[in-house]
Amino acid sequence: MRVCVLGGGVVGVASAYYLAREGHTVTLLEARDELAQETSLANGAQLSYSYVAPLADPAVLPKLPGWLLDRNSPLRFVPRLDWRQWTWCLEFLRACRTGVAKKVTAQLLGLGQLSRDGVHELVEREALHFNYQRNGKLVVYRDPVAFDGARRQLEYQASLGSRQQALDAAACVALEPALASVQHKLAGGIHTPSEEAGDCHAFTVGLAAAATRRFGASFRCGTRVTGLRHAGRRVVAARTDAGDIEADAFVVAAGMQSVPMLAPLGVTLPLYPLTGYSLTAPTQPGHHHPPAISVTDLHYKVVYARLGERLRIAGMVDLIGRHPRADARRVALLARQARETFPDGANFDAATSWCGGRPATPDSKPLIGATPYDNLWLNTGHGALGFTLACGSAALLADAMAGRPSSLDASAFALMR
Ligand SMILES: Cc1cc2nc3c(=O)[nH]c(=O)nc-3n(C[C@H](O)[C@H](O)[C@H](O)COP(=O)(O)OP(=O)(O)OC[C@H]3O[C@@H](n4cnc5c(N)ncnc54)[C@H](O)[C@@H]3O)c2cc1C
Repeated sequence: MRVCVLGGGVVGVASAYYLAREGHTVTLLEARDELAQETSLANGAQLSYSYVAPLADPAVLPKLPGWLLDRNSPLRFVPRLDWRQWTWCLEFLRACRTGVAKKVTAQLLGLGQLSRDGVHELVEREALHFNYQRNGKLVVYRDPVAFDGARRQLEYQASLGSRQQALDAAACVALEPALASVQHKLAGGIHTPSEEAGDCHAFTVGLAAAATRRFGASFRCGTRVTGLRHAGRRVVAARTDAGDIEADAFVVAAGMQSVPMLAPLGVTLPLYPLTGYSLTAPTQPGHHHPPAISVTDLHYKVVYARLGERLRIAGMVDLIGRHPRADARRVALLARQARETFPDGANFDAATSWCGGRPATPDSKPLIGATPYDNLWLNTGHGALGFTLACGSAALLADAMAGRPSSLDASAFALMR
């Protein structure tokens, strides 16, 4: 079957790889001149298969007023005259229920495990160079109440098969000596040895090269999809600035742009961009002491990952509109927080900054699978976890398109759920 994948971020490229491996003739269309130039470019680099709990959790409700009033909080909300922003927020609040959060956590853990298997298989089969590390993740807490909550979450996740350990402040520093200067501020941490990290952009580019080399997939960068031509309940072609491209099936994996792409077909996607920022700072061996394992500072909601001789720092969730744009004050705040946590962790003065809009659903579950059109498929809406969940999502999509049962309940990620 001829399959046309629309969008060349990590999710589209993983979809293309899995579908090409099944024997389909895959063409991926990407508007930018290179792959992974939007949200998959400089994210937090975490493959955090066990940290998939949804953003919508009852525990966030009492914190919301404080966060919204504090300019330096990890979450910022700028109200817009945009019904999409308000609808998304209402749906988010509706999802902030214990029962919903637990169910979503279990479903995302399943998808995370499928992704982990997928990443391991790819790393074994393909020569992918993406500063991949399998050395675990340490989430540190400064607030004892938050740490208690994390221990309860650990118990719940242990019942679902996760292997994690609670550590006191001294044990956190013993595990990650780069945290020494903030030891007195730490309440404790949760260590998850099975977590991984890597450069999402390099992974995406390497996976595309493997899909071409091994399975003949074609990646057409600089090809913007301007619409989808359909006849009844079938999509016939993708309209592009280089002419119409016909195929037997189409996969929409265009991140936030999936929304305007599908609106003319009457398909409404509940996505809103959660803007976040990252810094990539060079490190000099012997001179700087960056963390060796991935660290999340939960107080600031900032993640750190070492990518070779660079330190990637990422964080913040800003609901500020549909077009993410760099905010110098937020970038400066991120830099201050990084310096405070790891004073000699990197050359922060030489850091490059980036911002991106996480394509998020209100309940944090991606949209994977069928649409009301017979040959039109979705793989989008991965929010804060697109790198982590890309391989599992691609496997689920390939199963659905083949009409095969999956190891997971795919209906959890359906558009109508
Ligand atoms: C600050 C920050 C930190 C993050 N940290 C992590 C992390 O540590 N771990 C993790 O798992 N996730 C993380 N994420 C989330 C992750 O980056 C995203 O979920 C993921 O990149 C989404 O991938 P995607 O392929 O769906 O979208 P994108 O990467 O945005 O790709 C969509 C592609 O579609 C293309 N496109 C759009 N419109 C068209 C069109 N009309 N025609 C053709 N092509 C089109 C775009 O150019 C783009 O290349 C983070 C995100 C941010 C912002």
